[in-house]
Order: sequence, then C-alpha cells, then structure tokens
Amino acid sequence: MTGRTAAWPPVYDRAYVPEAGERYWNRARETMSPDERDALVLENIQGLMHWAYARAPFYRSRWQAAGLEPGDIRSLDDFARVPTITKADLRADQAAYPPFGSYLCVEPPDIVRVHGTSGTSGRPTAFAWSADDYATISEAHARIMWSFGVRPSDTVFVGSILSLYVGSWGALAGTERLGATAFPFGAGVPGQTLQAIGWMSQMQPTVFYGTPSYALRLAEAARGEGIDPRSLGLRIMFFSGEPGAGIPTTKALIEETFGVACIDCGSMGEMTPWMHLAECAERTGMHLWQDIVYAELLDPKTWQRVPYGGGGTPVYTHLERRCQPMIRLVSGDYAEWTDAPCACGRTYPRFPRGIAGRIDDMLTVRGENVYPSAIEEVLREFPSCDGEFEIVVTRERHMDELRVRFESTHENDSTDTIARVGAALKRKLGVRAQIEVCPPGSLLRTDLKSRRVRDERSKQ
Ligand SMILES: [Zn+2]
Repeated sequence: MTGRTAAWPPVYDRAYVPEAGERYWNRARETMSPDERDALVLENIQGLMHWAYARAPFYRSRWQAAGLEPGDIRSLDDFARVPTITKADLRADQAAYPPFGSYLCVEPPDIVRVHGTSGTSGRPTAFAWSADDYATISEAHARIMWSFGVRPSDTVFVGSILSLYVGSWGALAGTERLGATAFPFGAGVPGQTLQAIGWMSQMQPTVFYGTPSYALRLAEAARGEGIDPRSLGLRIMFFSGEPGAGIPTTKALIEETFGVACIDCGSMGEMTPWMHLAECAERTGMHLWQDIVYAELLDPKTWQRVPYGGGGTPVYTHLERRCQPMIRLVSGDYAEWTDAPCACGRTYPRFPRGIAGRIDDMLTVRGENVYPSAIEEVLREFPSCDGEFEIVVTRERHMDELRVRFESTHENDSTDTIARVGAALKRKLGVRAQIEVCPPGSLLRTDLKSRRVRDERSKQ
C-alpha cells in the first residue's frame, strides 16, 4: 500500500452549487489542459489500482497472470498493459462468488443500494453502490447536467423505468444534488404514457429524461389527445439507453417536436455515473468526462489504442468509485472520437456522432457492415418516416436480404417515398434494401431499448 491510496478517491464539497450564471460546475477540472488532465487521471488510476489489488481477487489474479502490480503503472501507456474485462467476466465471477462477485471492494454492510442488468442475455449482473459511491455518482451527474444547462430552478421529469435500470436513478441523484426539483414519474406501467402527458401538462416540468423512442411515443400519444407536445413546457430533454439522440435527424425531430434542446448521454449501467459521456449545451457530440471515468478507444480487431480521428470500441475505467470499480471494461459499443475544440470551452474529447452502435449489433449484410443507427439516420431524413421502424435480415437462395419496414401516415405518396428511401439507404449502406410501408401503429412499441432488428438468418 502507498500513501496515494489514502488520497483516493477525490472528495468533494457535498453542499457546493455554483451561481446559476456560471457556465462550469468545476471550471478547473473542465478546462484543464490535456497534459494536466492526463496527470490527474494517472494519479487516480494508481490510487484505484492499489485499492482494488488489495481487495479484489478478481483483479489481483488477472494482473498477476499478466505479470503486473499496481506499482508498475507509471504512465497512461503502461495502463494499456492492464488486462481488459468484459460483461461476461463479471457475470461468471458473480456466479462463482455470489452475490456481488470477487470484485466487491467494500464490506457487504457498506452497500446501500443494489441495481442490476435486466438479465435478458443471461444471468443478471448485480451492481452494488456504497454510500460514498452514491455521493460521487450524484456529484458527477449534477456537474454534467449543469454542462447541458440544467439549473436549480428546473423541474426534471424522470420518464423512464424506476426499477433496476440505473439510468433513472442517476438522473434522479443528479437532479437532487444540483438542487433542482425532481419528478420521478417512471415508465413502463400500462396506461402510464397518457398519465405522463396529463401530469406534464399540469406541472410543466422544464427538463425530461428518458429514451428517445419513448419521447417520440409520448409525442404521438399527446397528439392523439389533441395536445401539442410543445405545450408541455419542456426546454431540455436528455437521453440515454439508445443511440437516437446522437443521430442528427432523430435529434432534429425531437427538437422540432417538443421545442427543446435534445441532449445525448450515457454509457453503461456498470459504469455509473453513466453520464460521463454527455453532450454540453452546444450539442456537438458527447464529451468524455475523462477525470470521472477514463475512456480509451480500442480497435476491436487488434485491441490497440485508436488515436483521435479514428473509431473503435470504448473501454472504461472508474476513477472515483470504490465499491465495485470497473477497470478497463470493454463496452462493446462503437464510436469515433476527436479532440477538436468545443465552443463550450471544455477540453474533454468528444464522440462527435455519439455511439454509432454495438460491435455485436453490427449486421454484416452481403459483406457490408450495417449499423441499425445508420438506417435510422436515413429514415428520419424523410418527414413521412416519423413512426416506428423495423429491420429484418433473411437469407434467400444463399443471398442476404435486408428489409426495412416503417410506419407512415402519408399513404398517398408511398410509391415515391419507397423509391427515395431505397435510394438513400443504398447510398448510405452500400447495400440494396427492400422497403415496406406499414400502417401507423402496426409495429412493436417499446418502453426501454428499442428492439428494432430481427436477424433471421440463423433460423433458416
Ligand atoms: Zn462542449
């Protein structure tokens, strides 16, 4: 153990809130030079690794197998030698060492909250938060919500599922720490969408949190009730859980529909504070708040670091969490990054186009890599493609067939729309798609992550 561990993690004044006119919550941290930030990140990585090595057999055994000790990490280049971990590793470790795995770094009585994954892809993974983690998470979310314009005078409507899903709770924690008014409404209960519209009309919240697909569904339901979504009083909508808010055409559709600034945020539940990726009020793509969660971008084929300007899968490390810190967790997402300056003055790098998709969501159709988010981007360029859509891939006579089905309220011009959407998709994807126009309301709606892709090739 070294003296460094005692100074880790950073401690913040839990009562501090800037003046409402301040652009930054923490000017020094947000505007420091990249070199200064790298030094700060390295110091926190060293503190974190000493902490985890002493307490978590999960990490100690992996690092020992790689011939590493925390003291060996003297630069961010050295850190690239630390083995990466995956969600599957976490699941397997929790099965072997229930219930929290051998990467739990506090005593069980110190755990104040349990969240977790939905378990749709196997055994659910439990997330433990300690009291000081909760304070750190709240602090980070408040600081980041400040950067996209939330102030203590706002009322934040949390329109997402309030159960295991950490997104809702992080938004709530940040709202409370920032001193704004929280309205934890939730989602997912039958009839709740209409109730949400009623409550929003009545209470006029200024900020909304949820998923982009749910926001569009709310707008549809509001219009069905004769209510203009712009009359709900919102000025900011921030989103996570889906890539939509980072897709320019979907962002423009949400901004136009509600008369708001649409803010893209979010990484993973394991990485809470998940808002460590978030757009600022300038909306030029998500900033990477590297002093809260350190992100590297790795080439998914070579596992080498990708320089700015390139694309790869983000790999994340908690710098301020003690309970179950993630150290080089592979996200499986795909993004491109840049260090080009942002007008807000923050010196964090950015994902200018958000998260483009998942490495494993990527469909290979006739040899071309196709991301569902790219299809959504094309569809949203057409005013008549304002409803749900679905992507179906099949194999017919040994050839991949891509079918894109979308709802349209504009039946009269469907022949023309089909031709134009088809041509636009061919240009964007390099693959021909069959287009099918469906009646409004005929495709599956979801409250959480959209399930819009059906790959039926393996069943054939
Ligand atoms: Zn910015």
